[in-house]
Amino acid sequence: MKKFFIQTFGCQMNVYDSERVAVMLKKAGWEYTEDPEEADLIIINTCSVREKPLLKVFSCTGRFLPLRKRKGVRIFVMGCVAQQLKEQVIEKAPYVDGVFGPGSEDQIPQAAEGDIFPYIATASESLLREEIFPESSRGAFFEPYSSCVTIMHGCNNFCSYCIVPFVRGREVSRTTAAVIDEVKVLVGNGVKDVTLLGQNVNSYRDPETGSDFAALLEQVASKTGIERLRFITSHPKDFGERLAMAFRDIPNLMPYLHLPAQSGNNRILGEMNRRYTVENYLEKMELARKYCPDIALSSDFIVGFPGETRAEFEDTMKLVDRVCYDSIFAFNYSVRPFTKASKMTDDVPEEEKFDRLNCLLDLQRSKIKEVRGRYLGRTIGVLVESESPRGGTLMGRSEHNLVTHIVNSEPGDIGKTVKVKITEILENTLRGEKIKDQ
Ligand code: SF4
Repeated sequence: MKKFFIQTFGCQMNVYDSERVAVMLKKAGWEYTEDPEEADLIIINTCSVREKPLLKVFSCTGRFLPLRKRKGVRIFVMGCVAQQLKEQVIEKAPYVDGVFGPGSEDQIPQAAEGDIFPYIATASESLLREEIFPESSRGAFFEPYSSCVTIMHGCNNFCSYCIVPFVRGREVSRTTAAVIDEVKVLVGNGVKDVTLLGQNVNSYRDPETGSDFAALLEQVASKTGIERLRFITSHPKDFGERLAMAFRDIPNLMPYLHLPAQSGNNRILGEMNRRYTVENYLEKMELARKYCPDIALSSDFIVGFPGETRAEFEDTMKLVDRVCYDSIFAFNYSVRPFTKASKMTDDVPEEEKFDRLNCLLDLQRSKIKEVRGRYLGRTIGVLVESESPRGGTLMGRSEHNLVTHIVNSEPGDIGKTVKVKITEILENTLRGEKIKDQ
């Protein structure tokens, strides 16, 4: 049987896309391998949202060149870089056999069996297709108990630093019926925890009924049998009371909200075209806590945006200090092509960017025990998923989306949600003891 290998860079959206491609290939008779040496087809799923993954793409394709020469393995590139560079991928790396932009992934199984190489599928109309992934792509693949479902793709927001609208196109929502069907298939496969994905889930609209994201959450939560439901990402400008209330009213919606602030300074937020102020953002945080006092909050931040002064960066520090996030994801600003910010002068020296990044991450580290201290001594539900990397214990995800190690777990717990009393707060994880006789 022919074998395929997939290397995925970037966000959960890309992990989801890789999973759908894997399901389609499996149904077309291919077998997955974790070893590229064994593969007949190597797929690299690329990301161009940040500079680092973009740079990695060509070193990655180059790494597989000896395999191409030795055994004629086919190399395909999919994802945002495929859309950004199109034919240039082949110009830069002539040994690549196929280039598939977002929305064209369903052509991969057929192209892999065909004899037209290089195969280029990056038409911009693909980005407007309502149902990007056919029914044949539904199912769990990489993770048996947790999975994602894309409810919409593309973005209309044009934040000034972001390449997404240019490589993933304008917003297109899937129907509620298609999302429900896909979650049901995952539940049938044994999945317990599903994350609904979109660049800005708040602007989800069912193309047939016009119903909104809060209605979609209610429908998916009540009609699919899913045990745990989550979503990412919300744009702060659109996060409102109706969605905040969902955390109170939908029992299987987990208490975790990722609301990217990006900066704590109003001038920088304006330059970023984020369309909210720090004051608006703080109101949204209060709204979320009003309906779900125990909610775990997380955020993204960019430091060293063009023109950001040290004092403006200090406003970001103040925001992080004030909100008390369970987790943050922070990055140095880097120029992305096509964006409005690419026309601004990238004037914050790299050294200064790293210094700001370290200050921000140090601040967050210093707050972790205080913020996560609220879990200490509490009993929380943990979906047990795998062995801890160092062995000896099992680990899983808590309701608040934190990796939790369970000291007295047993192999039979894998795939179950067990009650765990938290005994220790570690830098990135929790540790606790399973309550006996559950
Ligand atoms: S909301 Fe802004 S940052 Fe997020 S994908 Fe859209 S343009 Fe990019």
